[in-house]
Amino acid sequence: MSEPKKTIRYVPCPSCGAQVAWLSENAFRPFCSERCKLIDLGQWANEQYRIPTKDDTPPDDDVLS
Ligand SMILES: [Zn+2]
Repeated sequence: MSEPKKTIRYVPCPSCGAQVAWLSENAFRPFCSERCKLIDLGQWANEQYRIPTKDDTPPDDDVLS
């Protein structure tokens, strides 16, 4: 049941989390696009995460006061 043909490997884009095909022709890997690559580089350069982004993680904090 195994297919020894070329298997496309997918990695999550570090910026937006989209599935990116790990292909040699994809010059922006592991990013999905040049835009995401620039965004990530910009975050590294600025070292500030004050950009309001959509959080998918639900507020799961156990507040013990
Ligand atoms: Zn992306």
